[in-house]
Amino acid sequence: MTIKTFEDLHLSEFIQKAVLDLGFETPSAIQAESIPHLMNGEDIIAMAPTGSGKTFAFAVPILQKIDINNKSIQALVLCPTRELVIQAHKELEKFSIYNEDIKIVSVYGGQQIGKQLLALKREPQVIIATPGRLMDHLRQNNFSIKNINTVVLDEADEMLDMGFRDDINTILEQTNKDRQTVLFSATMEKEIKKIAEKFQKSPCIVDVLDNLQSLPDIQQYYIETSEKSKPELILRLLGLHNLSSALVFCNTKTSVDKLVDILRAKGFQSDSIHGDMNQSQREKVMTGFRKGSVKILVATDVASRGIDVKDVEAVFNYDIPREDEDYIHRIGRTGRAGSSGAAFSLVTKRQVSVLKRIERANGVKINKQEPPSVEMMEESRFKIYENQIAQIIKDEDLSKFHESISSLKKDGFTELEIASALFRILNKKEQIKINKQVVFEDFTEEKEEKSRRRNRRGNRFDKKDDKCGRSYGNRQNDKDSLPLVFKFSKKNKRKSFSK
Ligand code: AMP
Repeated sequence: MTIKTFEDLHLSEFIQKAVLDLGFETPSAIQAESIPHLMNGEDIIAMAPTGSGKTFAFAVPILQKIDINNKSIQALVLCPTRELVIQAHKELEKFSIYNEDIKIVSVYGGQQIGKQLLALKREPQVIIATPGRLMDHLRQNNFSIKNINTVVLDEADEMLDMGFRDDINTILEQTNKDRQTVLFSATMEKEIKKIAEKFQKSPCIVDVLDNLQSLPDIQQYYIETSEKSKPELILRLLGLHNLSSALVFCNTKTSVDKLVDILRAKGFQSDSIHGDMNQSQREKVMTGFRKGSVKILVATDVASRGIDVKDVEAVFNYDIPREDEDYIHRIGRTGRAGSSGAAFSLVTKRQVSVLKRIERANGVKINKQEPPSVEMMEESRFKIYENQIAQIIKDEDLSKFHESISSLKKDGFTELEIASALFRILNKKEQIKINKQVVFEDFTEEKEEKSRRRNRRGNRFDKKDDKCGRSYGNRQNDKDSLPLVFKFSKKNKRKSFSK
């Protein structure tokens, strides 16, 4: 039977009520395709990206099958990071809000074990855990997992990549042999197959990675730039789109910190999240982001897993991801079920081939876009002013300004002139001072050629230096003055992007 509506899934009444509250209208692809198998008790390997509604897909069968008279732990969800644990926990709480008998407890590293022991006293039926911390509890005999009938490995490929293979094996070996084993993974790499062979019973494969519904309405673009011009490009993109929430991904912690400094210096409310931060620091940043005091969150991949924020308007790949599937994890933070989003990848000329590989691996189309020109920036800024003005006229009492305007009119100025002058004042206070001289083209190859030429010349000069007493300092100055890209483009009158 093809599942089209939530009625087709025969949800328990308490979940139906939650779905209504949450405003979910139709099941997503992964939900429609996996819930019937899971309700049947079958093992599955589900290939679905973050943002596809996968938590609901595995949560529904777990929650519906809970026997509240049974005091033992009945379901276990393993996630690679504490953020994902916390996110899954919040989702399960939302779906079970109308069933007070359901008790869910999370155990993850970074939180005091005593706090978790206290929570475990409530006799939860569902445990959500990171493998490492779960192993600590099992070693201390804090609880037993032998009666568990459903185990979900969420982002199983990531857990294996993070080195949790032995822990996963130990954990699964300690559970009931008749259990249902559910694997969620973005890839079908060898290690996943090994786990499946060892612990699953004829699993059914549900693959929605290629299904457009699973990647909701996300416009994907890439923009060519040189490494050096990336800061200017990201500033322009953020300024152009006037976003109230955006995620920017970098590949390293250093790159994250540098970028946050640049953004803050230009007046963007931004903060960072990366692997070196402890749990409370991360939670503080995430709270700021959810509440809107932080508008731009700059993150590394490890830290970003499990970031649960709705309505991220756009995702930026400041650095393109090292792993193809990370692209999906990253952009899945925008355009979450229901709303549309945009993803921008900043790439150098040499990285375009990597981007094409990412496209093929993930079955997505990433369209080329030109960097925003100075004119585009201005146009967008004016649009922002227009909207702000329209809103102020609608919402506020402006009568206290009337006298000044009447006086200007008496002096012979027209309303158009007065308003234009006000625009001019506003425009002076523009938030981002764009650097009109930056050229986004990647001149790496030309640069290399020029440096080769300079070295050749340098060698000649070196010889002459001795003979002719030619000052070495001239060349030194030459090297340290304007940025090479800029000089080069000016000198050769190359078509530059900025006017
Ligand atoms: P996930 O892939 O589990 O991280 O889910 C992404 C987001 O989509 C979460 O905020 C869910 O609450 C939401 N969601 C899940 N299923 C649906 C649905 N059928 N319709 C709308 N939103 C959904």
